[in-house]
Amino acid sequence: MLAALKRLGIERLYSHQAQAIYAATAGPAIVTTGTASGKSMCFNLPTLHILCEQARARALYLYPTKALAQDQARALASFGLTKRVRPAIYDGDTPREARAQIRESANVVLTNPDMLHMGILPNHTVWRDLFENLAIVVIDEAHVYRGVFGSHVANVLRRLQRVAAIHGSYPTFLLTSATIANPVELAERLTGLENVGLIDEDGSPTPHRRIAVWNPPLTDEKLGTRRSALGEAAELLARLARDGARTICFMKSRKGVEVLARLVKQDLTDSNPELAELVVPYRAGYTAQQRRELEARLMTGELRAVITTDALELGIDIGELDAAVVVTFPGTVASLRQMWGRAGRRGRGLAVYVAGEDALDQFFCRHPEDFLDRPVEAAILDHESPLIYRAHLQCAAHEGDLSSSDARFLGPHWESHAEILASEGKLRRRKVPASTYVLRQPESYPAAEVSLRSASPESFAIVDVSSGELLGSTEAARAHSTIHQGAIYLHQGRSYEVRELDLEHRRALVSPFDGDWYTQPKRDTDTEIVRLLDRRESLGVTLSFGEVSVTDTVLAYQRRRLSDHAQVDIIALDLPSTSFSTQALWFELDAAELARELSMESLLGSLHATEHAQIAVLPLIAMCDRWDIGGLSTNLHPQTQGATIFVYDGHPGGIGITRTAFARFEELCRDAYRLIAECPCASGCPSCVQSPKCGNLNEPLSKAGARLLLERMLGTPVTMTDSCSGPSERQHLLA
Ligand SMILES: [Zn+2]
Ligand SMILES: [Zn+2]
Repeated sequence: MLAALKRLGIERLYSHQAQAIYAATAGPAIVTTGTASGKSMCFNLPTLHILCEQARARALYLYPTKALAQDQARALASFGLTKRVRPAIYDGDTPREARAQIRESANVVLTNPDMLHMGILPNHTVWRDLFENLAIVVIDEAHVYRGVFGSHVANVLRRLQRVAAIHGSYPTFLLTSATIANPVELAERLTGLENVGLIDEDGSPTPHRRIAVWNPPLTDEKLGTRRSALGEAAELLARLARDGARTICFMKSRKGVEVLARLVKQDLTDSNPELAELVVPYRAGYTAQQRRELEARLMTGELRAVITTDALELGIDIGELDAAVVVTFPGTVASLRQMWGRAGRRGRGLAVYVAGEDALDQFFCRHPEDFLDRPVEAAILDHESPLIYRAHLQCAAHEGDLSSSDARFLGPHWESHAEILASEGKLRRRKVPASTYVLRQPESYPAAEVSLRSASPESFAIVDVSSGELLGSTEAARAHSTIHQGAIYLHQGRSYEVRELDLEHRRALVSPFDGDWYTQPKRDTDTEIVRLLDRRESLGVTLSFGEVSVTDTVLAYQRRRLSDHAQVDIIALDLPSTSFSTQALWFELDAAELARELSMESLLGSLHATEHAQIAVLPLIAMCDRWDIGGLSTNLHPQTQGATIFVYDGHPGGIGITRTAFARFEELCRDAYRLIAECPCASGCPSCVQSPKCGNLNEPLSKAGARLLLERMLGTPVTMTDSCSGPSERQHLLA
């Protein structure tokens, strides 16, 4: 073991690595520090130690992507302990003939949650040797397991522990995560274990990283329009290439990647044509071989810049470069940090963020210190989200009869869910032994029916008609609004146009799209309060949390130009209403008091703008996408009998987003207020109260009214920090 470390040139361990080795013997732990390789050392060392000590011991490594599992398999092989450590990847690409061999002899099995759920757990009897000797489970990049995916994975990990216990083993869990606000809570929710240790004291030297936040200058202060982030980024990348820096640049959409690469090449062709060839876009379609080649060319400095979508952020293996440029906000500060973390070759690097015009972009831009000094976002998941939980309860019943001893892994409420499944004809209750549940159809394979990426089993398939390829699926509850006929649909950074939404066969036929517009549905939404779960008075309003039923009718869609968001046309749709139940928070305002100061039109606009602003900043509290959240504001709700704003979880059953928002409502209001009050626009713009997903097409909206309303609630004046409004202002800060 020591010899193996020496071979890798490691003479002594950093404090957090030594801590991790200790923790592995003490109980579950989560590591949040260190560079990627330093973090892996924290779980590789204890694993290797156990494997070297105990000949029969086995370990399971879980990775969110296949590419990451491959990187780790290579890292394990580099220890050179070939007799004692036999890693193998077991995923969808593993050849059938190799599988039996891996089951029998690999003592580090690297896989992904989907394979564990669908292939390994349901067949645990053929994996007996692994489960009987399972000593360590490693969950790398745990922050990825949040939202719907996280809620599923939390259930898969409970099933894993249950199956291991059936075979008599109780493995230790080691997790790693990017810097988030709640690493221990995340680890405990994911695994169901208590007293998870936190290893966050970083003993490794951090590269000296210069951070620059760049806000493109305003072109029209009143409308809030700015110079394009793409254009600004292109200038910067060309400059870095000329200066000889090796750069990686991240962007959300694939189209953006292509456009940016073209702009940089153009810029360079004029001044330094030999450099233009050294800037390349990194595409999703590359084979593993092509990717490795590109990564190698970048690492050796043969290439100057690679521009990529953040979808690939986790799968690119390039070590550290001179500069990392992130164009437009990647959704969470945690992923921004991770992208920036690529800058730091030879102990120093430049990390740049170029802001777009979206609300979060501009908000971040005005308060970089706020966001960077402390982790603000919490990774949220809810393993008891009813639809998800029951789907896995059926899988668990397939893996072994459910009985009272299962409360330990499946939680205290398992039996009430089992009763519901029994009443739906999916489980059968046995009289002897008492309270035992089995599948009604023993030959069924429930795991095959459950996708870990969707909250409800009811989904629509998305098929590319040009290639016949199945691109993915979307929850039925969202199908009408996201894949209606004519919709422009973004999948892994690539645009498609929906040719036909086939309601009967639950599928959308799409084809690749290259036009210069996007679409926004117009819809009519109703919320009905089904059950009140919690209530408190706060900021002068009655704040509630509970279950609601959301009914949605998509009426039409608007086509808007990409360049300036102007409306091209509006096209009517004829779609039936859909409804789903989920969790929501809502708060009731004193309408009589508001009516004294605001006209009816302005009251509606104020409520609506307040709702938009709250939804815009919610991802900063609960790590999620604004597309995961919905809202509704009304001056008179039939159940509350007053002016009410609803913010609801967009996934059937809910996954905990609004529960967190309920608990941190004051922060939510404060951030929404700052978002509005600091925006330099005159009467609302995409950087504050306009929403790219508004079902009412941003009508009516009153920025001034929302400001007044929030001021009232918060008892302002709220202390404001300096805002970067002037066209001359370009912020730089050093870290
Ligand atoms: Zn604005
Ligand atoms: Zn709206």
